[in-house]
This record gives sequence, C-alpha cells and structure tokens, in this order.
Amino acid sequence: EIETQAAGRDPNHAAFLRAQGAIPGGVSSPVRAYGSVGGDPRFLASARGPYVTDVAGREYVDLVCSWGPALLGHAHPQVVAAVQEAAARGLSFGAPTLGEVDLAEEIRRRVPAAEHVRLVSTGTEATMTAVRLARGVTGRPMIVKFAGCYHGHVDALLAEAGSGVATLAMPGSAGVTEAAAAETLVLPYNDLAAVEAAFAQHGSRIAAVVTEASPANMGVVPPHEGFNEGLRRITSRHGALFVMDEVLTGFRVGPSGWWGLENAENTADVTGSAGYTPDLFTFGKVVGGGMPVAALGGPASIMDHLAPLGPVYQAGTLSGNPVAVAAGLTTLRLADDAVYAHVDRTAPALADAAGEALSAAGVEHVVQRAGSLFSVFFGPLAAVSGVRDYRQAQAQESYRYTAFFHAMLEAGVALPPSVFEAWFVSAAHDDDAVNRILEALPAAARAAAAA
Ligand code: PMP
Repeated sequence: EIETQAAGRDPNHAAFLRAQGAIPGGVSSPVRAYGSVGGDPRFLASARGPYVTDVAGREYVDLVCSWGPALLGHAHPQVVAAVQEAAARGLSFGAPTLGEVDLAEEIRRRVPAAEHVRLVSTGTEATMTAVRLARGVTGRPMIVKFAGCYHGHVDALLAEAGSGVATLAMPGSAGVTEAAAAETLVLPYNDLAAVEAAFAQHGSRIAAVVTEASPANMGVVPPHEGFNEGLRRITSRHGALFVMDEVLTGFRVGPSGWWGLENAENTADVTGSAGYTPDLFTFGKVVGGGMPVAALGGPASIMDHLAPLGPVYQAGTLSGNPVAVAAGLTTLRLADDAVYAHVDRTAPALADAAGEALSAAGVEHVVQRAGSLFSVFFGPLAAVSGVRDYRQAQAQESYRYTAFFHAMLEAGVALPPSVFEAWFVSAAHDDDAVNRILEALPAAARAAAAA
C-alpha cells in the first residue's frame, strides 16, 4: 500500500512498477534501470534538442544523448522530416533501396577504408558479423578482446565487457557456453606487451583483435599513443584481422571517427605508409541518427566474403530499413565541421567545469577525455596516475558517483546512470543548456564529497 501511495505521487515510480510487471527489470536494456545508482529510472515522454522530458513533465538537460546517437540533439527537425517522408513512402520493403547505397557511400567518403559496407540494425550485429567474417576469412577460431571494452551482447565478446556488464559487476553472462568463451582471449587494455605475448603463444590460431577505437564503456580510457598502431603492426605480422569498433566513437568524435583523429593527415591516402588502417570497422549509434542502423565496413577483398558473394552468412529482414537509413543519412549529411567544432568546444568546457567543481569540493578524481567524449573517475588511484585499463577503472570510488548523479538529476541534469559510461554532448547543447549544467555542478560535487 505504501508503494501504491508513492506511485500515485510519482509518475516515474508508477511507470517503473508497471513496467516491472511486464518487462524483466522494467527495461529493454539493463543500464536504463539505474541498477548501480539506485532509485526510479526516469521514464521519458519526449526529447528535443539538448533536453529530455519525463512522464512527470519534468525537463532535464540530457548528457546521455541516447547513449551516443543524438549528435545533432534530439528530434532535429530535418531528421524528423526525413523520417516522416521516408515512412510515407513505405516502412520496409525487404528489397534493396538507393538510400542504402547513399549511406554506404557516405560512410566510405568519411572512412575510405570502408570500401564495402554492410548495413545491419544494431552495433551488436555489426561486431558479431565482424567476428564471424574474421573467422571465415582467416579460417582461425580465436578472438582477442580487451577487458572493459564493450562490443554489444555477442557471446564471444561478453567476457569482461564494459557497459552494463561492468555496471552490474558481472564477469560475463550466463548462457554463454564454455565453447563460445574458450576461443576469446581477454587482455588488459593499453598493454601491447600482453598482445605480443598472446600472439607469441597463439598467433596462428587468432582470427582477429577486436578493440574499441577509444574505449568509453569502462569510463573514457583513451588508447595510449601508438597502441592502435601497435595492434595493426602485430595483427599484420601474424595474419590476423584488426577490427576497430567505432560503434560509439564513429562519426561522433569527428567526421571520420576516432580513426580519423589518429590519422588526420592520412584520410585521403589510406594505403600510405604513415598512420594505420584497420581491416574492419564497425559503426552504430550516430550512423543511424537515433534509428536502428549500424554497419560494418572494410576492403572489398574482405567484405565480399559475406553472402551472397562469399561463404560467410549474414542477413536481416530489417537490415538497411528505409526509414532508419533516412535518419542516419540525414544525420551524417548535417554533421558538418560546425557540428564537430561545437561538440569539441562544449565537451572540454564541461569536463573542465566538472573537474573544477570536484576539486573545489575536495573530491579526488580524474576527468578523462577522448575528443568530445569524457567521464569522471572518482578516488585517489585515479587522481595519481590516470586510468589506463579496466582494473584501474573498477578500483575507483564509484559510490561517489551515485551521490553526484542524484544531485545532478535533482538539479535537472540527466547524466548516464553508471560511472562506467561516457557523457555525451550534442550540437544542440547551447549556452542555456550548458549553463544549467554549470550551475548544478558545485552542489553535486559537494554531495560526492559527503558520500
Ligand atoms: N560497440 C560499442 C563500442 C558500443 O558502445 C556498443 C553499445 N554501447 C555496441 C558495440 C553495441 O551496440 P548496440 O547497443 O547497438 O547493439
């Protein structure tokens, strides 16, 4: 009865109770449940620009941005119009469309090494297909991944994954067979010596190294200089594929993703000797502009091993869905230099402000940033050396984030409900939205100090 009374007062609580009666945990994806920060998740009714509105009618400045896709802000009028026009022409055909070709070509324009592109619906599908393709092309079984990197809920890639697996402190997942996990080697991030050692031992059996281009699912832990290039060198030497997961970073940290940032002067000449080029890229999030589109891309010599040309099977009833593709294509076409300049200015300003507020409140922390992605790690270990891998990320004082998160939420700022997630800004985060965040930070920092 107490619950019913509380539910009557609070629409979010009522919604969560009702949802739990119909959906496991009340959510369609685990981290949404506020499992690590506690409390009722905000059920959202609408979103526009930098703001989201919950079912109680309360507005928040949004630093989740749908976990990445909303680079232009929510419900950008031109994206919405493109979706409406596409929907009016038909929701799904199960036949090829020119929109898919436009999107594949736009991806290749930005990342020339993605010579051929296959469209799928989720990042999970993209990385799952990349793993199968790598195994199919090389004829080898093993996959190397890094602890704290998340690549979606792919059996072979769930071991020591970040994101919700980290948030819920799970080692992996029930339901993944030993056989599926046995061919996955998990190594510490930013440790090329560990990669060398793994290849020295298993080199001829390793199909691919799969890595986040710049990890952001254990908090933001950028690659040390030369790390990705080192992965390229080692995989090439051993005949394994280098799969760069840009689902989160792709078209968000820059027009050509993280790869573009690390290879800025080489984007026109992907075969040049300077810089590095992965064999396969996976994309998601921004590439769908808030609709279910993801992709994998690489040279034709690898990609054309996919059916119908090759023996590696992959398919999807809704793959390349015309309405979803319209959202992605319009988003990418609108994501010009001004958009990236805006998020590149806004993210460091917010990261610095968060750091200053925490310092002023006496909270030990480090803010880590990779382009326009950033997150805060709490505790002394982080403050001394920075966080370079998952072990260090897990050692932080995450309970301070719980206090910080709820103080920000009270003040009308929605942060990701887990310390292991990046904060996302959009081109719609204008001075008003930023000022609301700046005003909320000092009290949240004091709450973190008192935790
Ligand atoms: N790879 C990375 C780097 C991701 O961040 C995510 C999702 N957060 C995925 C893959 C999985 O994408 P999806 O949730 O669309 O399956």
